[in-house]
Amino acid sequence: MPRSRLIDLIVVHCSDSDYGNAVLIDRWHRARGWRSIGYHYVILNGYPDEDSSRLHRPQFWLDGFIEAGRQVERIGAHVRGWNHNSIGICMIGRNQFTQLQFEALQKLIADIRRSHRDARLCGHYELLRPGDPPKTCPNIDMEWLRGLMV
Ligand SMILES: [Zn+2]
Repeated sequence: MPRSRLIDLIVVHCSDSDYGNAVLIDRWHRARGWRSIGYHYVILNGYPDEDSSRLHRPQFWLDGFIEAGRQVERIGAHVRGWNHNSIGICMIGRNQFTQLQFEALQKLIADIRRSHRDARLCGHYELLRPGDPPKTCPNIDMEWLRGLMV
């Protein structure tokens, strides 16, 4: 069993893709040489694979569905310098997300905070370090999102 770790940070990302799910992201991240999907949770937008997006066939029953990625007990691979103490959540999409995705995100954050009370909520772009490429991920105004969470 992995040793439990201190978690005091929740980091929101986007997939920067029109479609995807945990299985696909796992494949993409392994192709980059990582051991598995780097995020702990993925929130679907109803387009889990390329065909559903290309052929305009939304699997709407999956919109807002929360999938598990890497086990929360394990350190993720989603934000340089902050992986050891954080949980990473990926919203599928580029810069527009569905109402059901936002509702799922709110619920997931509230759930995580039940066991990690003081966990700070940040977007990837707020955690960049000198030398990191500029990022706007998750393309959500985090001040606004934090305002919704109180
Ligand atoms: Zn990110």
